[in-house]
Formats: sequence, structure tokens, C-alpha cells
Amino acid sequence: MAQSTSSTGNQPLIELRHVDKHYGDLHVLNDINLSVDRGEVVVVIGPSGSGKSTMCRTINRLETIDSGEILIEGEPLPQEGKDLARMRAELGMVFQQFNLFAHMTVLQNVMLGPVDVLGVSKDEARERAMDLLSRVGVAEQADKVPAQLSGGQQQRVAIARSLAMQPKAMLFDEPTSALDPEMINEVLEVMVRLAQQGMTMIVITHEMNFARRVADRVVFMADGQIVETGTPDEFFDHPQTKRAQDFLNSIK
Ligand code: ADP
Ligand code: MG
Repeated sequence: MAQSTSSTGNQPLIELRHVDKHYGDLHVLNDINLSVDRGEVVVVIGPSGSGKSTMCRTINRLETIDSGEILIEGEPLPQEGKDLARMRAELGMVFQQFNLFAHMTVLQNVMLGPVDVLGVSKDEARERAMDLLSRVGVAEQADKVPAQLSGGQQQRVAIARSLAMQPKAMLFDEPTSALDPEMINEVLEVMVRLAQQGMTMIVITHEMNFARRVADRVVFMADGQIVETGTPDEFFDHPQTKRAQDFLNSIK
């Protein structure tokens, strides 16, 4: 081949090009263009129903798209099969609901993917899992089942479980929205540290202080479109569009 197709070059880690999606008459994603570089933290905000979750879910093809392209390190996201499974495993995803396996211990939850999907030995998986559990501050809970943990602890286990797959990027969809207020910060702190360690992250959140502190870029969505994008200072202090100004006023 004459052209170089190196996958470690300077192309974005995640790129959405002209992504469109409808649910019946609803144009849920309308010409979405977004590129996320290695190590970048992009915070996505916007009113409920604006398409934030749908956009996030298209990135690991939990949702199909009608047209446009999604590229991971310059490689188009495959439609199905082994390549899709491999690329999915490279993107960690943490949802509002923790989705831990209820019948397994915390440790087993974190070991499962590495052993079953990555073929890591049990001893090595256990060692890595314990290391991750201490990084998120729940090592003492390793032998409990999820129901014995607080919501904040469960969400930190869910983050550890995603990290155990050694993802290239982490996608967070309102990871603190289901938590009691006193548990929100312990989860956000784990995410702050992850960002500081250079993890590439897309974070949908209503936590504006977190966005200000951690985001390299804020993306504001409304009605299926990216309406505005900027640094946190630009966006929060000088929103350009009326939509963004109205949204920011509504949450003050
Ligand atoms: P957000 O995360 O910004 O709140 P969503 O991406 O969840 O928004 O939803 C965007 C819009 O798409 C909403 O109007 C929602 O009702 C609609 N929607 C989401 N999922 C489906 C679905 N599976 N079928 C039909 N409509 C859907
Ligand atoms: Mg959502």
C-alpha cells in the first residue's frame, strides 16, 4: 500500500463525522461532528432529551446510526462481529445505573472481563483488580456483593471494572445522577484523578463544577445538535448562543 494507514498517528482517538439518527419522526442526532484527541476530556451538557445519551451510545454501537461515520483511531466502527467486539472492549462505559453483577463479589465483577474477554490469568486479574479497587478506594469491600455497598461505592466499582479492560477511552453517561448527594463527590474525585492521569474521557454530566475543573472542552447539545463548543471558561462565562445562555440560566 502506498498510503500509510498507521493507527497510532495524529488522528483523533474518537471521531464522529456528520452523524445522523432518527427515531421515527424524531431527528435525535442531527449532523453531529465531534473529535476527541488522546488525553482529552470532553464534557457534554444540555437539556434532557437533547440526544446526549444517544450520541454516547452510538460511539460503541449500542445504537446504530442512519448516516455519517464513527472512527476510532481512524478506523471505521465495524457493523458487527469480532472487530466490533474488540473495538467495544477498547471503550469503557459507565452509566447512571451501575449494572454490576449482583450474584458476584466486587472482586469477581472486576476480574470477569479480563479473564473471560482478554484471557488474562486469574492470578494476574486478581492482582490488577485489587490494585484498581484500591485506586478507587473500595479495596476493603472486595469480597462483598454489590448490594452490601453504598451507591457511591458501587459506582466506583463499576469504574474499576471498566478500567480493568484497559480501555483507550472512557465514556461516562451521568455517572452521578442516581447517587445520593453525599456520594457524588467521591465518584467525581475518582473521575478527576483519572482525567489527571491522562485518560481520554467523554463525560455527560450536570455537575458544572466538575466540568469547569476537568473539561478541556465543553460540548453543548440541544435538539439533537451540537449547538456550541468551547473551553469551560468560554462556555460558562461567555456562552455565544441564546440556547446555551437560557440553559445556563435555568440551572443556576
Ligand atoms: P439525553 O441523554 O440528552 O437526555 P437521549 O439521547 O436519551 O437524550 O434521548 C433523546 C431523545 O430521543 C428523547 O426525546 C428520547 O425520548 C428519544 N429516545 C431515546 N431513546 C429512544 C428509543 N429507543 N426510541 C425512541 N425514542 C428514543
Ligand atoms: Mg441521557
